[in-house]
Amino acid sequence: MCAIFGITGDEEAAHLTYLGLHALQHRGQEGAGIVSTNGGGQPHEHRRKGLVGEVFHSGNLSKLKGRAAIGHTRYSTTGGNISANLQPMLMKSSLGWLAIAHNGNLTNAKTISRALEAEGSIFQSTSDTEVIIHLIARAKQKDLPTALVTALKQVEGAYSLLVLNQECLIAARDPYGFRPLVMGELRGNPVFASETTAFDLIGAKYLREVEPGEVIVSPHKSPMAFSTMRPFERKARKRCVFEYIYLARPDSLLYGESVHEMRKKLGRQLAKEHPAKGADLVIPVPDSGVPAAIGFAEQSGVPFDMAIIRSHYIGRTFIEPKQSIRDFGVKLKLNPINHLIKGKSVVIVDDSLVRGTTSRKLVKHLKDAGAKEIHMRISAPPTTHSCFYGVDTPTKKELLASSHSIAQIKDFIGADSLGYLSLDGLVQAASETAGEGYCHACFSGQYPVPIAD
Ligand code: AMP
Repeated sequence: MCAIFGITGDEEAAHLTYLGLHALQHRGQEGAGIVSTNGGGQPHEHRRKGLVGEVFHSGNLSKLKGRAAIGHTRYSTTGGNISANLQPMLMKSSLGWLAIAHNGNLTNAKTISRALEAEGSIFQSTSDTEVIIHLIARAKQKDLPTALVTALKQVEGAYSLLVLNQECLIAARDPYGFRPLVMGELRGNPVFASETTAFDLIGAKYLREVEPGEVIVSPHKSPMAFSTMRPFERKARKRCVFEYIYLARPDSLLYGESVHEMRKKLGRQLAKEHPAKGADLVIPVPDSGVPAAIGFAEQSGVPFDMAIIRSHYIGRTFIEPKQSIRDFGVKLKLNPINHLIKGKSVVIVDDSLVRGTTSRKLVKHLKDAGAKEIHMRISAPPTTHSCFYGVDTPTKKELLASSHSIAQIKDFIGADSLGYLSLDGLVQAASETAGEGYCHACFSGQYPVPIAD
């Protein structure tokens, strides 16, 4: 997961980056960081574990001087939650200093780092991003853009990157476009972010996506005179479809389409595939299940109500590392409104079912609240495979649908019926508006890039 944000040519660069990271907090809550520069001398940096609002305050932000900055919020998918892995990473090489913020996972990082270590390289972190820095340093080229392209030609897997040095800000997206990256404009200067919601907050205009396989170099001296190149072998686009289902914020445009509208569309498709005839109420699992439940209710004509209330004072249950805490988290986070549910046949819509913890606990709460029937609907196909391109999914063994049939899952969670959106229905719905080319390995096991490590 993770979020990245970058801007050059603005006196408020670090403050704008801070705001951008705030808007992108949902993509990573373990840590945050900003590196800034005024074009010459040493860069300024601050990074810590914690939420954006905890990591930064006016004191440390005012020290992040300069007209260019990049920022990152971290959600560890590889490398673990240790301080050395916080980003942007800042390193010195023969090219001078450089900072890098990465969203995605490289699939051959271990293979490369082992080879480099055998030749004497020393790694300071356990993050795959550091591999890119080593490869840049070893590229032995005079300018950063060329060295970066040389480095990126050796790595495989998913990367949306922002790279900063004293001369330029570079945005790069892997040839498959696994993870999102968008470009905007603020006061005549370029700005980059994982999602457009960051642009809304700072008043930037959304221009376009950074295309899969594109590298954009924006010099600090004249930022809008950016150059763009497509230095990699062209690949079929494999944009992450799970961004639509769960990861992205609903107020973002993703791959050019509204995430909220896409989720409603998935809900409508789900209702076509698995109607719940005779149900009294459609209820979302808040917050991520809300748009799909609205779509389901629209399509089925069954009334919608927010009969499960979410406490916003606890993080996403999934983030907690231990099962014992996760179980507790569901109780803490989601509470049914008993009088809306008592004696009713209810359709519960969630965006995904991973380990089954949330659904199983919820069904129990709803039964305790007196529901007559509980029909679980999931606006995604069964999650059968782990993601190796930057989404935090548990090991295949822990994914309920990797080893259980839908009937077994229905029994496990205790629902009266269970319906998942079909893979065809999902891909068709997404392709109709946002064009073709998705990675759906978590649902299909079709991994576009082999997992070398
Ligand atoms: P589980 O309880 O393990 O079945 O997880 C399903 C719940 O986790 C759903 O309510 C989803 O909204 C949420 N979820 C799905 N994928 C992720 C993810 N990668 N990170 C955090 N939460 C997730």
